[in-house]
Amino acid sequence: MSKMPESKVGSKLVIGNWKMHGGLRGNEALLQALTHGTKAMSPGLRIGLCVPFPYLAQAQQLLGDSRIEWGAQDLSSHDEGAYTGEVSASMVADFGARYAIVGHSERREYHREGAILVAEKAERALEAGLTPIVCVGETKEEREFAFTERVLSAQLDAVLDRLSVEQAASIVLAYEPVWAIGSGSSASCEDVRDVHHFLRQHLAQKGPAVARIPVLYGGSVKPDNAAGLFSVPEVDGGLVGGASLDAEQFLAICEAAAGTIGMVAAHHDHTGC
Ligand code: PEP
Repeated sequence: MSKMPESKVGSKLVIGNWKMHGGLRGNEALLQALTHGTKAMSPGLRIGLCVPFPYLAQAQQLLGDSRIEWGAQDLSSHDEGAYTGEVSASMVADFGARYAIVGHSERREYHREGAILVAEKAERALEAGLTPIVCVGETKEEREFAFTERVLSAQLDAVLDRLSVEQAASIVLAYEPVWAIGSGSSASCEDVRDVHHFLRQHLAQKGPAVARIPVLYGGSVKPDNAAGLFSVPEVDGGLVGGASLDAEQFLAICEAAAGTIGMVAAHHDHTGC
């Protein structure tokens, strides 16, 4: 097996994905609680929240002075034009956003987004100065038929083929097994370890800088499994759906991530992985 560049041990990244949840008043309480609760956390921890488009202005207003960055959950593959209902990357960037999720499995499934479209969206995000969080993941059936690597390669290659090495080195990758999202049970640490290792090897084919991008795990990350998942080698943090809507849970997950910063393989025992 080829020697892989080690993922960064000096930092962790936790991104919340609110999906289609929220309301002005409830958001305010949540954002204030998160701003307050994350203040004293390890400086090596980076935190982001991907909110519905209409709340980008509120995120900018309430998170502007905090350590939490914000972003969107999707964007258009077009720059501008007659695309009713679409939101461009530059519009998202206008609100001070740092991130845009692209290729979430809910977009791939419910909106029939294919690998090329996802790659175009990642490219638009980068052109607008946003960091795309590119989601890849296999369905339950694909895993059962041992197609996981094939599916992940196809999803990832579409993005890597489209981007320059410099662009590819600026993305965040999120491994989100479709069967674990919203299910209440995450993938096992062993499965996560194997897939992340595979993804890291795949990234390395594009160049050493690309092999060092953050690779997050997403799929039912909760306070009680976060430390274990984040201590798996080559897991650089998490993409968190349901638990990001609850301040107490999201803060506990951030704390868990902070606690794994600098952890090396030999120290995994007490995390449950
Ligand atoms: C997600 O939507 O990206 C996600 C990981 O959801 P959940 O944490 O609820 O499984």
